[in-house]
Amino acid sequence: MNGLLKGKKALITGASRGIGRAMAIRFAEQGADVGFTYLSSVEQGETLVKELSAFGIKAIGYQSDASDFNAAELLINNFIKDFGTLDVLVNNAGITRDGLLMRMSEEQWDEVLRVNLKSVFNLTKSATKHLLKQKFGSVINVTSVVGIKGNAGQANYAASKSGILGFTKSVALELGSRNIRCNAIAPGFIETEMTGKLAPEMVDEWKKNIPLRRGGKASEVADCAVFLGSDLSSYITGQVIQIDGGMLT
Ligand code: NAP
Repeated sequence: MNGLLKGKKALITGASRGIGRAMAIRFAEQGADVGFTYLSSVEQGETLVKELSAFGIKAIGYQSDASDFNAAELLINNFIKDFGTLDVLVNNAGITRDGLLMRMSEEQWDEVLRVNLKSVFNLTKSATKHLLKQKFGSVINVTSVVGIKGNAGQANYAASKSGILGFTKSVALELGSRNIRCNAIAPGFIETEMTGKLAPEMVDEWKKNIPLRRGGKASEVADCAVFLGSDLSSYITGQVIQIDGGMLT
């Protein structure tokens, strides 16, 4: 199917690589104009702009720290200036700073909560005033199966991702009457740089427990974002969709 997002203007955070990058490409394939962010990967950002533009859509990369409230506000204002409107916001940027609780530092806790959770507040809050005016919008927050189930060695990450679930449902309740939808995607084990850092034994153990017996592809997560950003999901809000090969079943 083609053109599911034709004419829509989408902003995706953290798209220099991994899941965000796959989303930006799928969105462009489906006809959306795409703005995306990264923190430090300038070169990858420039390459992605070229790749996206080849689909004949408008593409702009912004270097912007999603965890910084003022930077997020500036980003949203710049996006509106550049694209005219904002239809789909994907809060994807995220990091891990793993460690057992006994050894977890305050910095590890604060950094993960700031980048993974506060960023979602920053971007959504800044976007809301525009979405309210146009009485339309789809916000998609990237959480994780770890936010649903928890994971030893990831108390900070799990807490940040659980926080996204509560935030998503609250925003769906607050803004539904204005035709603004807010949903979450919970990927399981997806093969990206983030999971590439894990020990091979841990990866094998995870895969054994996945009914589909394999890790997911970033493009498989991106397909769900296309669905939630498009009018195919016009009656869906406040939901969490797991993309995990059945892992949490
Ligand atoms: P990744 O490959 O590590 O990519 C992370 C992206 O986020 C990069 O583009 C990075 O930009 C950007 N980023 C990091 N900190 C940022 C900040 N402060 N402001 C703006 N951008 C920032 O990660 P991924 O595996 O694609 O994961 C994407 C999302 O999916 C995350 O929220 C993650 O928690 C979630 N997730 C992933 C998996 C998985 O198995 N991979 C599973 C469940 C959930 P730079 O390149 O400039 O650093």
